[in-house]
Amino acid sequence: MKKKRHSAKRIIGGILFIAAFVVFAYISCTVAVHSSDLENCEDTYLYRVYGYDRNRYLRNHGREAEIEDDYSVSDETGEVIALPAAAPAAAVVPETVPSALPEPTPEPTPEPTPAPTRAELNAAALGLPAPPNIDINDWQYVLVNGDHPCDPIDYAPANLVYLNMVGDDTDIRTGYDGNRQVVDARIAQPLIDMTQACKAAGLPVYLSSGYRSYSDQAANFKRVCENNGISDGKNYDGYYITMPAGSSEHQTGLCCDITDYYHQIKNDAIAEVATVQWLAEHCADYGFILRFPADKREITKVMSESWHFRYVGVEAAKYMKENNLCLEEFVDLYTT
Ligand SMILES: [Zn+2]
Repeated sequence: MKKKRHSAKRIIGGILFIAAFVVFAYISCTVAVHSSDLENCEDTYLYRVYGYDRNRYLRNHGREAEIEDDYSVSDETGEVIALPAAAPAAAVVPETVPSALPEPTPEPTPEPTPAPTRAELNAAALGLPAPPNIDINDWQYVLVNGDHPCDPIDYAPANLVYLNMVGDDTDIRTGYDGNRQVVDARIAQPLIDMTQACKAAGLPVYLSSGYRSYSDQAANFKRVCENNGISDGKNYDGYYITMPAGSSEHQTGLCCDITDYYHQIKNDAIAEVATVQWLAEHCADYGFILRFPADKREITKVMSESWHFRYVGVEAAKYMKENNLCLEEFVDLYTT
């Protein structure tokens, strides 16, 4: 009996010892935060408990080498998801211009030179090199403007994703829903690649505005018109400063307004900011175009917007940049 009670005491003593150890470890960990000696603590736990931004925390503690970027992509609920693999470009059968049938001949004839496509003929007439052999009806060339609204007018992309960018002074920041920005899933990876490259060039990047729904744009249009004392969305020169709902490219999810975190106001002055200048110079390498350049206002009917970048794919973007064409002019090559 005495022996039994003795062993019970030892068990209780053991439990108390373990409990004391756990409490001691917890206190040590907590004190360590205030003394900046964090080596023995679980970092991610600290970021959460003390509300640190992970990268800022590491930088403040001289641990720059451990800084990692987080360019994950998530769905509406914040669940991190994998982006769909880029679809291989569809093989395009060149559209030929009807010509007279060749005379039948018994002699073997050399391979005939394919007749020029409509786009090649249109480009040649303008003194331009042969344009890319593409299907202009593919999703990335969709033209949305004041004369070509979305079809249907309340169109919404089937697959929207949220870009989760790290937020501190040197990282890419976003202007939607805290630290997220939403775009069509098909342009997420090229957009991440482009903004990462811009950041790597030492420039601050701010993803100001991506996808906007029909109703978002309706509210936006109303607000901008009221603020400017106008009703048609156009400035005194007759160029759009805001698009009516259904006619905004933002509704396609295929574009993003990108600025510098420290120059967020989208006006003419931002054209002088290094971030947008870098983007204008390099965007074609990532499949983007500067959609509303100043010298194309007569065609786009939109004021100069040095912050609005639209995805069209690398091949089309490079052709348009090299030949100074806006999207309206590019699409015209294939459709007129
Ligand atoms: Zn825009």
